[in-house]
Amino acid sequence: MANDQTKFLLSERDIPTHWVNLLPDLPGDPMPPLHPGTLQPLGPDDLAPLFPARLIEQEVTTDPEVEIPGPVREAYKLWRPTPLYRAHRFEHALGTPARIYYKYEGTSPAGSHKPNTAVAQAYENAEAGIRKLSTETGAGQWGSALAFACSLFGLECEVFMVGSSYDQKPYRRSIMRTWGATVHRSPSDRTEAGRGQATHPTGSLGIAISEAVEVAANNADTNYSLGSVLNHVMLHQTVIGIESIAQLELAGDEPDIVIGCVGGGSNFAGLTFPFLRRVLRGEARTRFIAAEPAACPTLTRGAFRYDFGDTAGLTPLLPMHTLGHDFVPPPMHAGGLRYHGDAPMVCALVKAGVVEPRAYRQNETFAAAVQFARAEGILPGPEPAHAIRAVVQEAERAKQTGERPVILFGLSGHGHFDLAAYDAYLDGELADPEFSEADMDAALARLPEVPA
Ligand SMILES: *Cc1c(COP(=O)(O)O)cnc(C)c1O
Repeated sequence: MANDQTKFLLSERDIPTHWVNLLPDLPGDPMPPLHPGTLQPLGPDDLAPLFPARLIEQEVTTDPEVEIPGPVREAYKLWRPTPLYRAHRFEHALGTPARIYYKYEGTSPAGSHKPNTAVAQAYENAEAGIRKLSTETGAGQWGSALAFACSLFGLECEVFMVGSSYDQKPYRRSIMRTWGATVHRSPSDRTEAGRGQATHPTGSLGIAISEAVEVAANNADTNYSLGSVLNHVMLHQTVIGIESIAQLELAGDEPDIVIGCVGGGSNFAGLTFPFLRRVLRGEARTRFIAAEPAACPTLTRGAFRYDFGDTAGLTPLLPMHTLGHDFVPPPMHAGGLRYHGDAPMVCALVKAGVVEPRAYRQNETFAAAVQFARAEGILPGPEPAHAIRAVVQEAERAKQTGERPVILFGLSGHGHFDLAAYDAYLDGELADPEFSEADMDAALARLPEVPA
């Protein structure tokens, strides 16, 4: 009787005990991160000024499973397991024969998937005797998630918030301050990296990362924390996909297509990696679609190269699809998708052809989000709205072919702090930025030279 059910719920007992590590199953040759000064492969010691040993271990381990520490599972109980929904009403609105499910991460205290890694990172830093975490935030979701996690484990939290978001999203700042964090507008005058950016008054994620890394590198009691891109962040997020597998079993379905949005890649990795492992091991034939904005089209149009993670070139070089580390994306409302690169693990899967990337314009994305909200009620964040746009495309294809694919997508967060963007869309005043050939040429010209 699963077929007329809407929510598929697990109990606290079903919170996963282990994260899934896809590293040992990843296709292609491993490409190590490179030291920004010497361009030689990075040793674990190089990361020690920024990260605790346990997170560095999780970054490089090839164990296929990593045990989730007890206190992290306890913290997960505040919102996990998250619900899986069957989108009966959305299917009906689309008139599609496809069966559509979504895993909703907006029920966490911060309203997105980001606390899944924030609590794991705060816990390991507190265990290592660190007093404070510094980080950057774009739209504010990561800063809120880390502020929340630091409050659970008794750490101070210092957040560099991208200037344009700081001005436009004062309520995200209020949440971070309520959880006890200190928030600076980036570029700030507190760091050398910030003081050098007078020409970019609205800031960028790359600049804010440089500032946060500088603070951690210069203070022994302070570590840096990153909300996406790195292997250990992908690892922590796999609780999303592990729970989804159990919930789809309750529903009696297997997904044919799994869809997520990609900014740095963490919610996509979290949902897809447990399913992807089955495909890489020849046990399933699922398709995977990564949805990104046309204004910051890293996976669809970026070059697969070594590049820095930040604007100032302080971070290690990572092998990834990139638009150039000093690329400043046009203002757009999916703030969480405005990053010049992507997680190396996700890029390796795109390069191997296992994950299909697609880019969507801002207006078609909001059209899909509004259609979803009017059917299912939940108001999606502008980031997962890109995944919904891809779902609409697949649902329409199913209508034409008459197939009945099972589609699972990640609803990584709600859009309750993005109402100005919804207003702009509903008033017909939403900009629709694109990425031009000239932008692409300029991006390629700026990539650092790395000997092969
Ligand atoms: C930050 C964020 C994203 C983008 O980051 P990923 O690492 O690609 O997941 C997507 N959705 C939401 C709700 C976010 O907060």
